[in-house]
Amino acid sequence: MKRKPVVAGNWKMNLLAREVAAYAEALAAAGPATTVDIVLFPTPVYLDGAARAMPTWVSVGAQDVHAEEKGAYTGDVAAAQARDAGATWALAGHSERRQCHGESSAEVARKAERALAAGMTPVVCVGETIEQREQGETEAVLDDQLAPALAVLDTADAGAGAGAGAVLAYEPVWAIGTGLSASPEVAAAVHSHLRGALNAHRAGLGDAARILYGGSVGAENCRDLLSRPDIDGFLIGGASLDPASFLRIIRLSAGSGSGAAAP
Ligand code: PEP
Repeated sequence: MKRKPVVAGNWKMNLLAREVAAYAEALAAAGPATTVDIVLFPTPVYLDGAARAMPTWVSVGAQDVHAEEKGAYTGDVAAAQARDAGATWALAGHSERRQCHGESSAEVARKAERALAAGMTPVVCVGETIEQREQGETEAVLDDQLAPALAVLDTADAGAGAGAGAVLAYEPVWAIGTGLSASPEVAAAVHSHLRGALNAHRAGLGDAARILYGGSVGAENCRDLLSRPDIDGFLIGGASLDPASFLRIIRLSAGSGSGAAAP
């Protein structure tokens, strides 16, 4: 089954307002991407500005939303607020949130549910540490991380949220920001496992879900990764900070897809 690729950029705690504006101008000048879904995840204070500035073919997403609907959570952002500011996608469970903020997989699933209920497409992130991989625990760790989120991914597949379907990101912790990308073989094996787990939850869910790879993706390795049938796109950190480098990955990814217009 051919699924439309997603090329997503996670800016984390980088870029200032003027750089976000210049980035949007660079994308607009490059022209529309039609064969891939493009999503950018700015720092929360710039969600609104980014959503207004980006060309219509670029979606904007929240890097995180709170698991509760609203309330006394100083410094946090509610899903409805992110949606109100223009976000149509939301990350849930990026490893930096799991590690720096102690987010459990159950909490990550609740965040994804909030995002979906607020009208956004959640991207549920899973990934093992290098120690877990070396101990042969990768699949068990990923299964544990995925289990609480299966129901929300199933609901997303039914067309809830922003209607972009079920989206999962495999991001091995050891590959994030290290320059040590998983090889296409390693990534493809994990994606195939995750797709199987989704299909075991409900037949067809795994076939429909888009599973992104994240971890030191750049222009040099994106084509090879995307050529694997179970890899449906990317969640990109460092290489998404510069619009020229992000556009290069979009072009290469669009060229690996159905062959229609690329920016
Ligand atoms: C990320 O943080 O999601 C990520 C994949 O970062 P990088 O591309 O820099 O490895």
